[in-house]
Amino acid sequence: MMDQSELIARHSANQLTSEFEHQYQNIVANFFSRDPKKWPLFNDPQVQAITQFRKTVLADNQLIHHYPNGADLLSQLNSQTHVQQHMNFPGAQQDNLLTFASALCKNWENPLAVENVIAMPSDPALYGSMLGLLGNPNMVYCEYSGVADTMEKTVIKKMANLIGYDENQASGLFTQGGTMCNLYGYLFGIRKTLKDSKQLGMSVDQDYRIINSQGGHYSNMTNLSLLGVDIQNKTIRIKVASDNTIDLHDLEQQIRACYTVHCKIPVILLTAGTTDTFGVDEIKQVYDLRNRLCDEFEINDKPHIHVDAAVGWPIIFFINYDFNNNPLAINEATLFGLRHTVEKFKQLKYADSITIDFHKWGYVPYTSSLVMVRNGDDFKALENSPENFTYFEHDLEGQTHLQSTIECSRSGVGIFGAYAGLHYLGIEGYQTIIAHCLQNANYMRNQLIEMENAAVMVPQNQGPSVGFRLYSPKLQADPQAIFDYELSCASDKAAYETMIRNSKWHRNMFLTRGKSGLFTNWVDSIACSTYAEHNRFAYIPGEKAVFMNPTTERHHIDAFIQMLKEMSQA
Ligand SMILES: *Cc1c(COP(=O)(O)O)cnc(C)c1O
Repeated sequence: MMDQSELIARHSANQLTSEFEHQYQNIVANFFSRDPKKWPLFNDPQVQAITQFRKTVLADNQLIHHYPNGADLLSQLNSQTHVQQHMNFPGAQQDNLLTFASALCKNWENPLAVENVIAMPSDPALYGSMLGLLGNPNMVYCEYSGVADTMEKTVIKKMANLIGYDENQASGLFTQGGTMCNLYGYLFGIRKTLKDSKQLGMSVDQDYRIINSQGGHYSNMTNLSLLGVDIQNKTIRIKVASDNTIDLHDLEQQIRACYTVHCKIPVILLTAGTTDTFGVDEIKQVYDLRNRLCDEFEINDKPHIHVDAAVGWPIIFFINYDFNNNPLAINEATLFGLRHTVEKFKQLKYADSITIDFHKWGYVPYTSSLVMVRNGDDFKALENSPENFTYFEHDLEGQTHLQSTIECSRSGVGIFGAYAGLHYLGIEGYQTIIAHCLQNANYMRNQLIEMENAAVMVPQNQGPSVGFRLYSPKLQADPQAIFDYELSCASDKAAYETMIRNSKWHRNMFLTRGKSGLFTNWVDSIACSTYAEHNRFAYIPGEKAVFMNPTTERHHIDAFIQMLKEMSQA
């Protein structure tokens, strides 16, 4: 039986099939090309000027010189300090600065842009978002949103069915970013289990611990301080396994420790696809563990399980993919990885709530985050007292989440963008683009392995992010063996010094190269060391490329690898 690492290392398993290539090109031409013949929205002359300007592989710091009078326009923009007295009538004088600033926003259309979990929006999602802007619904309340309210409910139903939730029981809410979705996740658990917390705060007469994972996104922590949680003493960060998923043994021990002393656990926050390393927690096993321990300790208010799938969620488009016949002709290495990853994403339906960012791997403009909730009744626990809502029509209350939202005014743009993205791309369009990204990521891993002086981070985590460390060929050692040694750096001083020395070599090469080839990023924690005494660990830095960009192709990766090879030898 082949394993993932062997497949990634095999050149023949990472080919691009011509059937796939054909389908992919078709999707890029129709949905990611800003083509005014397909999407008349792009016909406006200024919009044309912007989209044409952004069709480039120039690095961002070169763009300002490339733009007519760019430097001058920037200093004009910079020097404005007061609102002028006179009006500027339409047509009389077009505002150069608006066009300039739009064109010079960080160019995610550039095929070389692979810095982070950020992507250009698709043409249809831009179109949908524009219509949302025109309609300008205020989602605070159905009377102020009109039909947009129905559209939100429709998108939520569709997503419920993709996830495997009961569409009649599930509910959700578009909100301001994945961070806020995670905040809602915490809040559901807190309001359900600490019943007086709404009035009295968190720790009036009850001991509790919030549980999350050391592999989680930083919003897992920043939200806690926002909520007034004592981070030192009331938060338990569970250890992670070598693939960055939550350590189930540690989790069980910690829950047991809490329940033994009658300490409540409002929330367990998991992650399905960590940002840099794509660790996907075993949701079903955590669900079973929670139920088993709540039975054993006779706990009625079970911990709310929130899953942060901000980046990873689009894997759900493959839940019903025919892996045996493989109609998209996805290559062997990626198909194998995807099959495994999909099994984990099938478990999303066991989550009580889920964070979904359409603006990441869903190719929808900002911000289009959705918090999905398995049981819509959970919103009741968030309801604030009706006397706070005197200026709304009472007859309509109860039909919306008015009393349960953190926000008052809430944009509907993300709803329109998400609806349009789903409508035009469909499951098949998303499958193709997601598979394209994953094939790119695996191809990059394959090429790095062939270089023989690169260690690839957790290749079995089949996400769009490729983390790697480069070593001097002068070391004349197996890069994987060096990396394995570096992993002991929290307990071994010599290993720590080696790790620092190697990081310097790699970092120096990264800085010398600048943003060329592919626009990768340097991150201070591309991996975690193994645990030392007292559960201490150290972060290991490295480079990452995130293949979320639909326009990145193999020849871009080839050119980048060639550059790395030449620089390594120099
Ligand atoms: C990006 C990200 C977030 C935060 O989402 P925003 O939409 O940027 O607020 C949370 N969790 C994970 C895993 C992420 O990658």
